[in-house]
Amino acid sequence: MAMVEGSGFKEVFTLTTQEQLNASVMPTYGRFPVVIDHGTGESCTDETGKTYIDFGSGIGTTSLGYCNEAWTEAVCRQVKTMQHTSNLYYTKVQADFAQQLCETTGYSKVFFCNSGAEANECAIKLARKYSFDKYGKGRHKILTLVNSFHGRTLCTLSATGQDVFHNYFFPFVEGFDYVTANDIADLKAKMDDTVCAVMLEYVQGEGGVNALKQEFVDAVFALCAEKDALVIADEVQTGVGRTGTFLAGEQFGHKADVTTLAKGIAGGLPMGACLASEKCADVLNKGAHGSTFGGNPVCCAGGLAVLQTVTAPGFLEDVQRKAALFREKLAALPGVASVSGLGLMIGIQLTDKKAIDVANAALEEGLLVLTAKDKVRLLPPLTMTDEEIEAGVAILAHVLGK
Ligand SMILES: *Cc1c(COP(=O)(O)O)cnc(C)c1O
Repeated sequence: MAMVEGSGFKEVFTLTTQEQLNASVMPTYGRFPVVIDHGTGESCTDETGKTYIDFGSGIGTTSLGYCNEAWTEAVCRQVKTMQHTSNLYYTKVQADFAQQLCETTGYSKVFFCNSGAEANECAIKLARKYSFDKYGKGRHKILTLVNSFHGRTLCTLSATGQDVFHNYFFPFVEGFDYVTANDIADLKAKMDDTVCAVMLEYVQGEGGVNALKQEFVDAVFALCAEKDALVIADEVQTGVGRTGTFLAGEQFGHKADVTTLAKGIAGGLPMGACLASEKCADVLNKGAHGSTFGGNPVCCAGGLAVLQTVTAPGFLEDVQRKAALFREKLAALPGVASVSGLGLMIGIQLTDKKAIDVANAALEEGLLVLTAKDKVRLLPPLTMTDEEIEAGVAILAHVLGK
């Protein structure tokens, strides 16, 4: 960069984007050494012009890939019409999205927010107030599962059943206890009269892409029904078609009292949603909760485009077909011990290589993958083509075979 005459600065050094960002952004993330510049479809390109097949989709957010045509059109149209107004007023796009989301999922009402953690905060507040309204004080405990992940706010960190997250930020929010996943005896022991809700991920994502056992999920629903405790399904990662059905709960044959969504809901725009069934749809009444940006028109427009795409005839069946193809190909690779998860939420247990080494090597070869605990984790766009699956898996095969 040239010297700026008369600016008072003798020299202006050119920083790389990585140096520039690291100098000014808090060091909370371990980032791969790549600057992503743009994307189309299921691939993105870095600053140097190198292209990557993206099996991570922004951690499951860009569910229709980069700049999907219908999505881009809807979002741009809304940006040019009205980018925001407050929730003191009504907007048609929020009304449309809420109605269609409720119709699709079978829920009565939704609260819109901006992230997964916020959606879970809403669910936790809702469960506590549901119980308070009916039974008064002292019935506020929420059971979550060991190895769960529910977010990074103080309350959702408290809900997260992993000790590594329970550091530094004391005191955490009271009123959570942790049940060992798939341990029905532990569940029964902890399900006392102070419990107002059980919160679970049908497939634990960050915890290592592990699906819950059907018997355990059945036991949660049965016990909660018996005690009038709410079941909260954290479908922030599993929802909106990720597992091959709109909600993962459909595959377990259950509808939770409350379901939270985020990640893929608006195709890469920040949005979260907390869905409530009829018996608790009006618990959060006027003044009980709120969000300045929640239900923002641009995010709702993006959400509508995603919803309409994902619920179009044949779309989810195709996700299921692609998931089966993926799983078959991955299971046959060298160095793969097993493949876990559900639908296009895929965990790969390796026989000897470390997941992070595989992710770094794949990056070198033009493929973006994620990790979760000791697994390689894939959350490919739902729109990924068979050719891209083939091409990406070929890179993984090469990396794993080295
Ligand atoms: C990602 C995730 C969250 C947190 O979502 P944010 O948008 O990062 O707040 C919560 N629950 C689950 C299951 C998630 O996968």
